[in-house]
Amino acid sequence: MNAPEPRPVLPLAARLPGRESTVVAVGDVRFGAEKVVLIGGPCAVEDRDLMLAIARTVAGAGGAMLRGGAWKPRTSPYDFQGLGAEGLEMLVAARRATGLPVVTEVLDPRDVATVAESADMLQIGSRSVQNFPLLREAGASGRPVLLKRGMMTTLDEWLNAAEYVLAAGGNDLVLCERGIRTFESALRNTLDVGAIAVLKERTHLPVIVDPSHAAGVAKHVTALARAAVAAGADGLLVETHTDSAAALSDAAQALSPEAFAALADECRAVARAVGRDL
Ligand code: PEP
Ligand code: MN
Repeated sequence: MNAPEPRPVLPLAARLPGRESTVVAVGDVRFGAEKVVLIGGPCAVEDRDLMLAIARTVAGAGGAMLRGGAWKPRTSPYDFQGLGAEGLEMLVAARRATGLPVVTEVLDPRDVATVAESADMLQIGSRSVQNFPLLREAGASGRPVLLKRGMMTTLDEWLNAAEYVLAAGGNDLVLCERGIRTFESALRNTLDVGAIAVLKERTHLPVIVDPSHAAGVAKHVTALARAAVAAGADGLLVETHTDSAAALSDAAQALSPEAFAALADECRAVARAVGRDL
């Protein structure tokens, strides 16, 4: 008797033969279409007026979406943990003022419904990439999900995490490479540019890059962003702050509004050189 056909390992996430690339829509923003999607904003939502000011600089520079953490995964429990629901509300106010859809991290499966009610897209952070209950909740939330790569996850483990979200009903999923831990310590992490090429082959899902957490220092963020766009990334997630020295988290990697605008211009030029736009 013939053995049954083996089930594909990643029936939902894999690029099975003939499968077209998926375009993920968040409002009017489309990940995986011609335009490279630029997402900007502070690491953490800190204050209402500050959030509004930063949001305006992101919009002015040609950013398509706004980021900002309301629940922050911090290494030390004594560091600023984010403003929680209050921060989420500030993000909503910034969306109202600029029209930019917002993406924000959800850390706890119990907060998924609250975040999904207000945010346009749910971010699952590096430290949560294998929090399977969280992946399932996010997948079932009805909101598009931005799934970051864990700093220690292989592409295979990451794609399996994506499969959890898809299997729970979340069809709109965007992968985000943000650097991995290697022996090299010159930068905060090592941006795996090769991952973009491999993922384009292995999955139909859009792939974006976060050069901020990869570099860890503002002065090298733009070079990594240009490399990501040249390699075929569908978008960029970049931290920017109007008073970066005073930022309550990830201050060293926050771009000034001027540097963020320059990044947008340079990455637009690279996008056009590879047949896209930004
Ligand atoms: C963030 O986006 O601010 C963040 C915490 O990122 P990561 O999960 O990639 O460390
Ligand atoms: Mn950050």
